[in-house]
Amino acid sequence: MSATYSDRVSRPRVVMAGLFHETHTFVEKTTGLEDFQICCGEEMLACCGDSSPLGAALQAAIQSGWLVLPTVDVRAMPSGLVEDEVVERFWKEFYARASSAFIEGVDGIFVVLHGAMVSESFPDVEGEILSRIRKMPGAETIPLYGVFDLHANFTQLMATNSNGLIAYRKNPHTDGCASAERAFALLNRAQTDRTHIQTYWRHPPIVWPPTGTGTANEPMRSLESIALELEKRFPEFWSVNVIAGFSYSDTADTGISFTVNTPGDRRDAEAALDQLCQRAWDLREQGNVIDPPASEVIQWAIEHPLPGLNVFAEPSDNIGAGAIGNGTGLFREFLALGVHNAALAMTDPHAVRMLESLTPGDRMTLTFGGQGNRFDQGPVTLLVELVSRSNGNFTIQDKRSHLASASGDHFSMGPCAVVRHAGITILLTSRPTPPMDLAQWTSQGIDPSTFSYLGVKAAVAHRCAYEPIAVRMFSVETPGPCTSRLQSLPYQRISHPIFPLDEGSFSV
Ligand SMILES: [Zn+2]
Repeated sequence: MSATYSDRVSRPRVVMAGLFHETHTFVEKTTGLEDFQICCGEEMLACCGDSSPLGAALQAAIQSGWLVLPTVDVRAMPSGLVEDEVVERFWKEFYARASSAFIEGVDGIFVVLHGAMVSESFPDVEGEILSRIRKMPGAETIPLYGVFDLHANFTQLMATNSNGLIAYRKNPHTDGCASAERAFALLNRAQTDRTHIQTYWRHPPIVWPPTGTGTANEPMRSLESIALELEKRFPEFWSVNVIAGFSYSDTADTGISFTVNTPGDRRDAEAALDQLCQRAWDLREQGNVIDPPASEVIQWAIEHPLPGLNVFAEPSDNIGAGAIGNGTGLFREFLALGVHNAALAMTDPHAVRMLESLTPGDRMTLTFGGQGNRFDQGPVTLLVELVSRSNGNFTIQDKRSHLASASGDHFSMGPCAVVRHAGITILLTSRPTPPMDLAQWTSQGIDPSTFSYLGVKAAVAHRCAYEPIAVRMFSVETPGPCTSRLQSLPYQRISHPIFPLDEGSFSV
């Protein structure tokens, strides 16, 4: 977007960028440039007003009269360690577009981040990028605001090199767009009031698995409500953020943390952080949610039948947290317990290709699931009947969903095949597809509410989609990279001591 002279004198200018990845450092496959969606310059404006936080931020900027200087948006679904070239590509594109703008004069910088991105060279990618921005000539003191995912591993570097980074308040993330709007409103306020705010950050020695981070439950429910109370009690607190952390990114700052954004007294901010850390410590056991074994739960559901859909969430294979989604644990239990009218989706591009030459109704012996997954028992080989095939594209049904907050209005599962074996319907996708939207099934001509048993590879984020159609929801333990038993993961960088990895006498 080119600015005319009159634009420059009459409208505030904001440099905008997006960098979004939740990095699971324990899965083997790294994440390269080809896995990212990269939009440069004015291409970014195409998402204005869509269901993503960037779309909401762009719309908020334009509606509040700012002149947007788009730089680059780089995003991918959660997956393994990010290759360095991704970070450097982001930086090259950002630098090329922002450097002259900073020298000409800019009134704000707005970033859309995840906050748990780890690359080969940088355990804290966001902190690295924000500190590089602050070192650019002309950018040293420009108000830097933005929005980030509640599952960030926030750091001191991020706090020092920004003014107001605002976290989502809900998990499932139904408020990605609302949070982006809230964050932009703070930048607008900073511009109007000419007020400079700072970020105070604190990380108590606690890490919770994603199963313990739903905001409808403790401990997050209490922590979020304390944050809101603090914002009310201290008008100078522009924002108080509860950051649940992402346990599968192994970094020195992995775990829960809190920030206070304020122009006010440091001691008030520190006292608020003390209060939040103490409450988190008191509730720490409640956040360490370990599910019962899948076999026991399914058996119980069989013995206590209710008409309608029983949903079994398998957090250990949580695609929304970076698992490939090819674990066979829950499927094996379905098979072993002989459940019928059941369904489950699984990632396996190779199996989809094997089915390419079949027509619906054909049968073949297919090997699927478990490939290259060191947490799994390995592939299963079974006689299956092909039900259908598709290109796997769907339009997201719930625009406020967790999935929409990460990817906008559309999603591609890649080529897909639906097969059936012994009363179990299996949707095989080529790309890992977080089970956060029913259109994953309806786009295949399948109404998921008609099943009796359905497996989903998620911890919390599936609830908005599946609760309305389920008679019962369960969460079960199976083997997988997103296990809730954090002690079983080979952490190397996390700071010790930390709950629940360490025992002994330590506290906040
Ligand atoms: Zn998240």
